[in-house]
Amino acid sequence: MPTRTSFQRCTNVHRILPEVPVPVGFFMIVKKGIEIKLYPNKAQKVFFAKTFGCCRFVYNQCLKLKSYLYEETYMSFDPKLKSFKEEWEWLTEVDSQALANAYMDMKVAYKNFFEGRTKYPNYKSKKDKQSYRNAMCHKELDKLIVGHTIILPKVGPVKCRYGKTFKHENIKKIYNVTVKKSKKGDYYCSICCDVEVEELASTGKSVGVDVGIKSTVVLSDGTEIRNPHFGKKSERRIKILQRRHSKKVKGGKNREKARRRLAAAHEKLCNRRRNFLHQVSRMIVDNYDVICLETLNIKGMQKNHNLAATLHDQALGALIGMIEYKAAWYGRTVMKVGRFFPSSKMCNHCGGIYRELKLSERVWVCPHCGAVILRDPNAACNILDEGIRILNNEGTPRTGETAVLLPLRLADDPPVDDRPLDLKSSGQLKRETSLAPVVHETHRAFAGG
Ligand SMILES: [Zn+2]
Repeated sequence: MPTRTSFQRCTNVHRILPEVPVPVGFFMIVKKGIEIKLYPNKAQKVFFAKTFGCCRFVYNQCLKLKSYLYEETYMSFDPKLKSFKEEWEWLTEVDSQALANAYMDMKVAYKNFFEGRTKYPNYKSKKDKQSYRNAMCHKELDKLIVGHTIILPKVGPVKCRYGKTFKHENIKKIYNVTVKKSKKGDYYCSICCDVEVEELASTGKSVGVDVGIKSTVVLSDGTEIRNPHFGKKSERRIKILQRRHSKKVKGGKNREKARRRLAAAHEKLCNRRRNFLHQVSRMIVDNYDVICLETLNIKGMQKNHNLAATLHDQALGALIGMIEYKAAWYGRTVMKVGRFFPSSKMCNHCGGIYRELKLSERVWVCPHCGAVILRDPNAACNILDEGIRILNNEGTPRTGETAVLLPLRLADDPPVDDRPLDLKSSGQLKRETSLAPVVHETHRAFAGG
């Protein structure tokens, strides 16, 4: 099985950089959705199924009425949920909070469309992922989760399983719970809550990150994390399952079984990929204070049909998003260099540009100074240099669209932090003021991020 190699690769990441970051005791409140797996009994499954169905019905009915009246009269119209319940009595059997939330979701979707943020809302299908949300759950973790059960409103205790780290999460406030059923047929509950996250200690290191096709990530210090090619590895099995599914009689039990197997294969692929990206992004955020990234034009790159599949498999956009939000949580600085910065084509030794560089050339000789250059580490070093140059305010950025034009002392020389207020991490600010423990609720926004 190919799983073994990718697992080894993931652990290697940590072996290369053994420093364990020590939390420094400054906290930030972040909003998280923590997912736990549910094992409902038969009656509970029936209740869930009914609630999913009724929520979908309310959503679709509401959309139907709204669309109809809008087409006829150009008027916005809000049907009353109460009138739904009077017309269809069976709606009263299920979780009323769930219905109210489905109704509100519809209204928000409609509003988003009219304010130009999204496309026109679609009808929900029975074949999609099913879910409902309830905000009337217990607001304290001890009352919400008792032993290995979660107490859900209107359902009561449902068997559940959660990760080892779950009880160590510093959950401060619980907003709502969402019960979901995946296409494979598993049940999950997502707890939306505020979590206190401890800021990590400074490591005094900065890094340039080159993300790419051959290696998922190459860092400026030479660390390379190969592309694990999860998609390629699962491709064969997914193809076989797809074929089996398509040959089963429509509407039959065997087709449903085949569909579940196929959904499970897709889910597994998705989980492996996500787990890998979480490990890589966490490793980068743990080990470096300043992280310099490229601004990728992923849509543009996907137009190249040779690369599209690999790019999709790599999920580079997701990786960059993870690095960004984790950096914000743990008090790290992210600097993005401009899209047109020639990170690959520039020689890191002399600064000369080799315009004829092809994508296939992994190693090249600089025509200006004669240095032998490894493509990816060279690009990572260039990204680091450019990022630091922008952060240090050495003139306007050569190619970047965004830059922080304020002086910043970098982590190599940590004792005095004379950065201006808006560049400092919240932990740094707290350390300096240290009068009252202020909790920053929002993430810091970076000019480059
Ligand atoms: Zn050179």
